[in-house]
Amino acid sequence: MTINEATPKANKPIPVMRFLKLSEDAKTGVFLGKKCRTCGEFYVGFPIFCLKCSSTDLAPVELSKEGTLRTYTVIYTPPAGWQGAVPYTLGDVDLAEGVSLLAEVIDLPKEDIKIGMKMRMVLRIGGKDTEGNDIMVYKWQPVK
Ligand SMILES: [Zn+2]
Repeated sequence: MTINEATPKANKPIPVMRFLKLSEDAKTGVFLGKKCRTCGEFYVGFPIFCLKCSSTDLAPVELSKEGTLRTYTVIYTPPAGWQGAVPYTLGDVDLAEGVSLLAEVIDLPKEDIKIGMKMRMVLRIGGKDTEGNDIMVYKWQPVK
């Protein structure tokens, strides 16, 4: 290979949110959060202080990848830029740490969704960034 040879840029998958950490091959991921060392409250993402007790003593943690469907809604009018199928189901899933996360529920007809179902986080390609890299998004998939 010469230095002038055009080389296609390697696809470098990127997470849709900073609190989603991708594995090396981007096939799996974990939710990053914080745990208050003073009162034990958990958070998704990277708060500066605890909203419950105001402590700034927060430890980085990896949150559960599975949880329980708390509620859901069916979206018939998607937001601008939505590239998936319509209608789709948006589910709010409670994790064991006491936090919840909203995401699309996949691989389950909306007629079959029931509150209390076990869900696991899976990754899908949600689109491309301006450099052609895959944007990885998290979804909820029922645990069979
Ligand atoms: Zn606290």
